[in-house]
Order: sequence, then structure tokens, then C-alpha cells
Amino acid sequence: MDNQDLRKAGLKVTLPRMKILQQLESSKERHLSAEDIYKSLMDSGEDVGLATVYRVLTQFEQAGIVLRHNFEGGSAVFELADEEHHDHMVCMESGEVIEFLDEEIEKRQHRIAEQHGYEIVDHSLVLYVRPKAGKK
Ligand SMILES: [Zn+2]
Repeated sequence: MDNQDLRKAGLKVTLPRMKILQQLESSKERHLSAEDIYKSLMDSGEDVGLATVYRVLTQFEQAGIVLRHNFEGGSAVFELADEEHHDHMVCMESGEVIEFLDEEIEKRQHRIAEQHGYEIVDHSLVLYVRPKAGKK
């Protein structure tokens, strides 16, 4: 992802857009809320307002650069749309987001849709989890 990708997505290259794209790419955590991005921009001395972060993320979403997830019990999180399809687990205690992909589940879902006379256009699966007792 670089400035070229912004242009390809039909977006003009502006400083806030570049900065926010950089945050999404350089962050260790792949799933970030607007507040997370806003805070890390502030920490690195960038003067980008929260409203701008929200606006740019919405533009990125519409342009297909990021995916938005509205997980329960938290604010929307965004991730770059550069990965293969995967599903998510959200820890209800820490808010941590874990990615997973299970071929069995994928196949089953196609079969189930088929049995109902449909084909899958898209799907998202979210497991809400907590650490197993005894695991710390
Ligand atoms: Zn993900």
C-alpha cells in the first residue's frame, strides 16, 4: 500500500490519508479503532483530528482499502483489506482480536448455502471468547 494505491482507489493523496495509511501498515495490531489510530498519530506528533480519522477511514472503506468490523462490545475496528479471507475471535476480557481460518468451516458454509439453493457472496464469522479457566 502506498500513494499509488490511494490514487488507484480514486483518492487524492493528502497528508492525513498518507499518515493514516502508514499507521494501519506499521501497527503491530492489525485491527485498529479510529481512536487507536488517532492516539498513535498524536503520540508521533501528527496533528490529525479524530473527526478526520473517522472521515478518512470511511473513505478508505468505500474505496475498498480497509475492512470495517463492528464487533460487539467495542467500537468499530478497521484492518487493511490486503489479506486473504479470514474469520475473527474477539476476547471479551481483553478486547484482543484473533484471526483464524478453518477449511472445514469454510466448506461447511458453502454446503449449507447450497442446500438452501444459494451461493455465498460473502460471510463473516465472529467468535466471542474468553480465556479458558486456568489459562493466563
Ligand atoms: Zn482480520
